[in-house]
Amino acid sequence: MKIRKVGVLGCGLMGSGIAEVCARAGYDTVVREVSEELVEKGLGKIQGSFAKAVEKGKLDAAARDEALGRLSGAVDLRDLADCDLVIEAIVESLEEKKKTFGVLDETLKEGAIYASNTSSLTITQIAMSTRRPDHFVGLHFFNPVPVMKLVEVVRTLLTSDEVYQTAFEFARSIGKEPIACRDNSGFIVNRLLVPYLLDAIRALEEGVGSVEDIDKGMQLGCGYPMGPFTLLDFVGLDTTYYIANIMFEEYREKRFAPPPLLKQMVLAGRLGKKSGRGFYEHGKK
Ligand code: NAD
Repeated sequence: MKIRKVGVLGCGLMGSGIAEVCARAGYDTVVREVSEELVEKGLGKIQGSFAKAVEKGKLDAAARDEALGRLSGAVDLRDLADCDLVIEAIVESLEEKKKTFGVLDETLKEGAIYASNTSSLTITQIAMSTRRPDHFVGLHFFNPVPVMKLVEVVRTLLTSDEVYQTAFEFARSIGKEPIACRDNSGFIVNRLLVPYLLDAIRALEEGVGSVEDIDKGMQLGCGYPMGPFTLLDFVGLDTTYYIANIMFEEYREKRFAPPPLLKQMVLAGRLGKKSGRGFYEHGKK
């Protein structure tokens, strides 16, 4: 199976990064958002990231121009019909993902591979909304996508060997380190990471320490590159809240239950870096 053209659904935090690494690796890449305005905003984010890479000497101007030339935006899902691989990175909602794949399934060419970047839903749940669950894998990237090396490549009971192998090789071809995961909510990394992040919020609720001291404790005491609250602000508190609810629903274990403070912060619009304020202040948004 040969991948030449990649479609990316969603151009938020993750979709923009995924589209960027695909275009940089030489794939024709089309990224889809729900409105022209969001397409422009998303492409602007990618251009900004390219500019930073050039500034830091990680990319030369000619390579940037070539990558930008391979990148386009779309609102109409039919514009992705000739893609060989479509990677979904839209909001963490089973209903939204099913709806989008349902429409895409009508137009996407035969033999194309579907992938989801979901953090917490099972790939099987999403795959079953299409006519070709054997062509469905999980490709779970990490934030920020251009920097983080890991991709979890997830197979379901129905994923064909050839599709799985192609997806694994694709992850390598864009400069990532793939690891193999069986389909379960949270795969490997979030299954271990999410309870830790939620526990940090519970420790804060219980007054064990301040945001800054809990972060410093885990950074200096465990050698983590950043503390849990800094990471939560990067991931997005809304996304973390969706993920916790889904994992709790799946496992029915308290360690996955979203703490009340997380819910309150989401309701209050404190979503982390993306909204300008989460556990920390982030500029003037
Ligand atoms: P985000 O809120 O930054 O972006 C989601 C984007 O999807 C938005 O721009 C929204 O307009 C768009 N969107 C919504 N419905 C759409 C549709 N039907 N078609 C196309 N675009 C649509 O969220 P994110 O952090 O980029 O997360 C996206 C996915 O990636 C989620 O499934 C999430 O669980 C997963 N993920 C997130 C992280 C993280 O650190 N944030 C890490 C790995 C995986």
